[in-house]
Amino acid sequence: GMSQQRAHRIAVIPGDGIGKEVVPAGLDVLRAAADAFDLRLEFEEFDFACAAYWQAHGAMLPQDWQTILQGFDAIYFGAVGWPEVVPDHVSLWGSLIQFRRVFDQYVNLRPCRLMPGVRGPLAGRGPGDIDFLVVRENTEGEYSSVGGRIFEGTERETVLQETVMTRIGVDRVLRYAFEQARRRPERHLTSATKSNGISISMPYWDERVRAIAAEYPDVTWDQYHIDALAAHFVLNPDRFDVVVASNLFGDILSDLGPACTGTLGIAPSANINPERRHPSLFEPVHGSAPDIAGRGVANPIGQIWCGSMMLEHLGHPAAAAHVLAAIESVLAEASPRTLTPDLHGTGTTAGLGKAIAERVRATP
Ligand code: ATP
Ligand code: MG
Repeated sequence: GMSQQRAHRIAVIPGDGIGKEVVPAGLDVLRAAADAFDLRLEFEEFDFACAAYWQAHGAMLPQDWQTILQGFDAIYFGAVGWPEVVPDHVSLWGSLIQFRRVFDQYVNLRPCRLMPGVRGPLAGRGPGDIDFLVVRENTEGEYSSVGGRIFEGTERETVLQETVMTRIGVDRVLRYAFEQARRRPERHLTSATKSNGISISMPYWDERVRAIAAEYPDVTWDQYHIDALAAHFVLNPDRFDVVVASNLFGDILSDLGPACTGTLGIAPSANINPERRHPSLFEPVHGSAPDIAGRGVANPIGQIWCGSMMLEHLGHPAAAAHVLAAIESVLAEASPRTLTPDLHGTGTTAGLGKAIAERVRATP
């Protein structure tokens, strides 16, 4: 089409293992969405953040990765990790964690939705019962390196590690979560802390929730202790809309949430720099899955759903919703020849990707 808008430049990093298989399926769907909605998406692929690159260069990323990637509007990422060649902490700290920190991606987003046709682990729950968004603080909190050991090697050996909460850091992730809640039909926010046990930092978080909530009178909110909240995720998942938590609690909830919705293969995530000073990164929740890599049977839906989140972030909510609807429609058909083995089908990564791309093109 003769679209007047400027192109969105997207850096594509397949990474390792099934990342290399699911990313092409995700790109098929993004191209279909670009055609259907007359969007200009320009993809540029990079071969770093994988074991082969590490073997050749002794690093996961080139020295000037920041300069290379800064000019992009988003990063479409597959999966990192190939423990046979690179220890997991090396590949993770050498790539994804660098992106998060340097590009100030201080929000981690994980939508949790029970999809039609997917057998979730919670008895009696069907589509519509689970549909919430976990917002995790991604740059400070419990994951600080402030601390150390004293009296080492003695009976008094003592280890300390501090939680760091800054007003700027807490407020900005809370505002992001309230903004998300405001845009959803239920307009409800839940905050997770543990203020009865962690008596200095967690009450501070609670205090900031109360302060920021005053800016959002149209959003209702409540708060839970993290232990009770974890139980409610399993027992009453229909209670939640947007759930916001600190780095550690958010980390746990953002694995527990998708686990309540069935296969790991369909869950997406995003690392967001809301001010758009740096590119945000979209990656499926699953890893590189060495056990099934190279066989063309990985479920591409997590990667495809990431594409929907990326379209939303780039300012195209209708296209984003359309991709999600296409995923749901193909899942609801439950054709065993189309679905991948994790969904009890006999289909392939490319085949399932193609089915969703065709659905995106076919329906207006
Ligand atoms: P991480 O890399 O985040 O540490 P991990 O290595 O523990 O994660 P994954 O690579 O996500 O775990 O794989 C966990 C299990 O889930 C494996 O058995 C893998 O085959 C399966 N799995 C992961 N992603 C998919 C997918 N897209 N389709 C089908 N099965 C998957
Ligand atoms: Mg792994």
